[in-house]
Amino acid sequence: MRPFTSTISLDEAKRLLAAEAWPIARTERVDLAQASGRVAAADVVAGMPVPPFARSAMDGYAVRSVDVAGASAASPITLDIVERIYSGQAPRAQITPGTCAEIATGAPLPAGADCVVMVEETAPGARAESVAILASAAAGQHVGRAGGDIDRGERVVAAGDLLTPARAGAIAAVGQDAVEVFARPVVSIVSTGNEIVQAAGATPLGPGQISDVNRFTLASIVGAHGGVAYPLAPAADTVEALDAALSAAAGSDLVVFSGGSSVGERDLLVDAIARRGRMIFHGIAVKPGKPTAFALIDGTPVFGMPGNPTSCLSNAYILLVPFLRAVARLPAWTPRIVAAPLGRRIQSQAGRHQFYTVRLENGVAMPAFKGSGDITSLSRADGYIEIPAHESVVAEGARVEVTLF
Ligand code: AMP
Ligand code: MG
Repeated sequence: MRPFTSTISLDEAKRLLAAEAWPIARTERVDLAQASGRVAAADVVAGMPVPPFARSAMDGYAVRSVDVAGASAASPITLDIVERIYSGQAPRAQITPGTCAEIATGAPLPAGADCVVMVEETAPGARAESVAILASAAAGQHVGRAGGDIDRGERVVAAGDLLTPARAGAIAAVGQDAVEVFARPVVSIVSTGNEIVQAAGATPLGPGQISDVNRFTLASIVGAHGGVAYPLAPAADTVEALDAALSAAAGSDLVVFSGGSSVGERDLLVDAIARRGRMIFHGIAVKPGKPTAFALIDGTPVFGMPGNPTSCLSNAYILLVPFLRAVARLPAWTPRIVAAPLGRRIQSQAGRHQFYTVRLENGVAMPAFKGSGDITSLSRADGYIEIPAHESVVAEGARVEVTLF
């Protein structure tokens, strides 16, 4: 055994990680239908105005405002209807003094007209093909001007903007069907341990074997926070196998190992990393998740997560998510936090910042942590509370802040 000679604080680990999280430079072009959730890599500038033409915002009559000045229910003004314009049609007639066009919402305003009187303010005219206008209208009334939404040449989204559904809509409005975005970081995921096997449906586990949990929790986290998970086969506990895994992961933007990062005789990840790269830290004063390592190999960030499924996933939330989002150029994650009274007293180890999982039951935070090795510590929890390194007890009934998963 090679005991941890020292651990760094959680804050120090976060600081060291933030210093190495380089935003991705690779870009790609994606269909607009796939763009939501991605990050724009270039400004999108409108090559056309939106709407492209002046259009009616109401069903009614396109008129010249001077023709209907003074119109009212008591003294209607009758105009001749020269055309009926439906949406999707180009108007043909010119609106001259004394005439108008019936017009549908969204249809182009005909030349000569400068406003729309809605149908509710009209009545059938006395002559054939005429309408009685019962209200005056100011120029521009019920007209959406060309470019009123987006002017030609206006920036629709800026490089670095997260593409929300609405921004994808704005890009569609200016007639584009694809958009340049930053590539999603590719994250190789390697579970390590002689005992780790991929779940194989009905095939029973052999003696001493364990189903690979971390591969799935890590891949889920990666996919949910802007990365592309690239799971590799589990690696055995030999320096050679870990070295081969590092070779297989070459070319990815980020590598996440789990297991073998502790100080047991078989925990050889540290040795495998030392052969190729530079260890930034190994060991964090945090619970769960103390045996966590971070290294750079040929400039590629490499996480060594603990093998224990809860430790691994907990540190994935706390350390990997912010790192990955920064690399992916996504805005920082802002989890929801709810306040609740603690349902039962918790004892915490002094000197380590603890993440303690809880379940919310009728507004009360019930401790849910079983052990670092138990995935149900997390799968049956709604979130966690944080107990700083210098605190060792949280009393029953104390008001705690629960960070929801
Ligand atoms: P280690 O960090 O390699 O010492 O592993 C600590 C504990 O976590 C051991 O009980 C391992 O069997 C278990 N473990 C390691 N990796 C995984 C994994 N990918 N899935 C489930 N359990 C694991
Ligand atoms: Mg192991």
